[in-house]
Amino acid sequence: MHTIDSNTDSETIEKAVTLLRNSQNTVALTGAGISVGSGIPDFRSDGGLWTEFPPDEYATIEAFHVNPEKAWQLFRALGHTIVGKQPNPAHQALAELEQHGLLTHIVTQNVDNLHQVAGSNNVLEIHGDHLHLQCLVCETTEPFLEQYLEQGDTPRCEKCRTPLKPNVVLFGEPVRHLGAIEKCLHDCTVLLVIGTSAQVYPAAGLPEAVKRNGGLIFEFNHYPALGRSAFSGVPIITDFFFSGDVVETLPNLVVKLLSNS
Ligand code: ZN
Repeated sequence: MHTIDSNTDSETIEKAVTLLRNSQNTVALTGAGISVGSGIPDFRSDGGLWTEFPPDEYATIEAFHVNPEKAWQLFRALGHTIVGKQPNPAHQALAELEQHGLLTHIVTQNVDNLHQVAGSNNVLEIHGDHLHLQCLVCETTEPFLEQYLEQGDTPRCEKCRTPLKPNVVLFGEPVRHLGAIEKCLHDCTVLLVIGTSAQVYPAAGLPEAVKRNGGLIFEFNHYPALGRSAFSGVPIITDFFFSGDVVETLPNLVVKLLSNS
C-alpha cells in the first residue's frame, strides 16, 4: 500500500494519477465521512445521532411498526441534521470527475442527497433518501415536507392512514440497488473508497469484490480502515491510501488529474 500525504514523492503521486486517468470504469463508494465537511456529523461519532437515539430502540423496522411516533423523534432529529446543508469540495470533485467521463457511478451509504446537489447524476443510494416518505402498505412514496420536522402528529398516508416512514433504510430492511451495484462493480478498474470504513455489509463486500476481479482500491480516510494490519488477520487491500481530510485530499487529486489530461 502506498500512502499519499504531504511527504509523498511526486513519482508515486503521478503513478496514482496515471492509473486513475487510464482507468476504464472508476466507481466511488462514499460514506458519512464525505459529508462531515458539510456539517453533518457521522451518526456513530461521539455526540452523533446514535448517542441520543440508540439504533436498536429507534432505527429498526420493528421499532417503527411498534411505535412510529417514537421513531419519528429520530427522523425529526435526522432531518434537522441534514436540511439546509450544502455539498463540500469533495462532493464537487466527484461531480467534476463524472462530467469529465472519469467516474461512472457513485454508490453511497448517505441519505443526504448532497452528491446530486453537487451535480452527480449516477448515484446509487443503498440506504434510500431523506427527500421522500413511504407508505409500507400502499408501497407509494410522497415528497418529504419541511413542516414534518415540527413536533406534531405523525404524518399518515392519505389513502390508507398508515403512519408514513421516511424513505430511508432502517435496520432489518433490505438495502437498495444491489443488482445495479453488482453490475457496475463487475468490471470496475478503480474503486474510490471515500469517508467510509466499509465495515458493514453490503458495503464491506464491495472493495473485496473489486479487488478479486483485479481492480485497484484508492482509499480516502483519516486512517486506513480497509484491512487494518497484517496482525489483524485481514489483508490490506488498499493500493493507494490518501491520508487526511477528504475535503482536501480528493479535490487535490482531481485538480492534478484534470490539469495534466
Ligand atoms: Zn397507504
